[in-house]
Amino acid sequence: MTADVASRIHRVQASMVDASVDGLLVTPSADLRYLTGYHATPLERLTALVLPAASDPVLLVPALERAEAERSAAALAGMQVRTYEETDDAVAMALDVLREGEVVAVDDHMWASRLLAFQTASPTLHMRTAGALLSGLRMRKGSDEVASLRLAGAAIDRVHSRMGEFVRVGRSEREAAALIATAIIAEGHDTVDFVIVGSGPHGASPHHAVSDRQIQAGDPVVVDIGGSTANGYCSDSTRTYVVGAEPDAAFTDYYYVLLEAQRTQCDFARSGVTAESVDRVGRRVIAEAGYGEFFVHRTGHGIGLETHEEPYIVEGNHLVLEAGMAFSIEPGIYLPGKHGARIEDIVVTTDDGVERLNTTTRELIVLEG
Ligand code: ZN
Ligand code: ZN
Ligand code: ZN
Repeated sequence: MTADVASRIHRVQASMVDASVDGLLVTPSADLRYLTGYHATPLERLTALVLPAASDPVLLVPALERAEAERSAAALAGMQVRTYEETDDAVAMALDVLREGEVVAVDDHMWASRLLAFQTASPTLHMRTAGALLSGLRMRKGSDEVASLRLAGAAIDRVHSRMGEFVRVGRSEREAAALIATAIIAEGHDTVDFVIVGSGPHGASPHHAVSDRQIQAGDPVVVDIGGSTANGYCSDSTRTYVVGAEPDAAFTDYYYVLLEAQRTQCDFARSGVTAESVDRVGRRVIAEAGYGEFFVHRTGHGIGLETHEEPYIVEGNHLVLEAGMAFSIEPGIYLPGKHGARIEDIVVTTDDGVERLNTTTRELIVLEG
């Protein structure tokens, strides 16, 4: 097998031995893509990587997907692809690779119906989730993965740098979002994963998506956008713009507090500090300025083949950051009924700090409108 696929399989097998897990069942998901390079959509026919801790893996796919599976990095590297016909018992074929009574970890995104089918077919298996097992690998990015995230970051930065074309006074959030979505593809993504355009009071709701509200002169507008590139790595960046006229003074006041908090966090983050300490240093800046109650979410999330994955940058996460971990630093301040702001960059931990993968200016930009 190629170095990549083989080393990931070997590393997960080593983690399985440490965790006393005998087998792993991985259905279409970012986990499957990570371990095999096979980008399969979850459908009613079973597709699964069956990986025993101590022997060779099998990639089980429906016969009609053989060609696709055989183009995956894993198959090209020599992983066995086993196919089944419409009338075969695919669940039994997958379980054939495992032994009765074993401890089997299943990917966190496996459909409940599928898990129950495995359990019914083999009641002696001890099932558990594979989340912790796989996230330990996936959150420690290789240099090739960092390079992919860097390209994704540059692609979303190009969209932000064109924001004056999209976010205009009189245009609805929905119309602006449609233009942004087109640009996300045009600037180097395969899919648009999300587009948040929160204008005026909508900016105060962190996960507001879009609405028919028309953007008004002087509105702060939170624009949080991301997509996936051809090899699956994701982008995610937020900038808060003002459109058409100067914003009210209350907004400007907390925007600079937020900017200071985000900068403090990016300066502080490095290998050797805990995830929660990165959250704390930003929260302190915001609280000391009197806005503590308006920073209503964690600082960030890991990113890779999924937009939200480990490590989570949140109080209570004692994980010590290591070089090669990628995550967002995205504090926000939200005044209910008025407006809000968030500034988000993806960063990668290095030995002496972080590399920011998003580099468009964080200074307050007033778009012409
Ligand atoms: Zn989010
Ligand atoms: Zn975001
Ligand atoms: Zn994010």
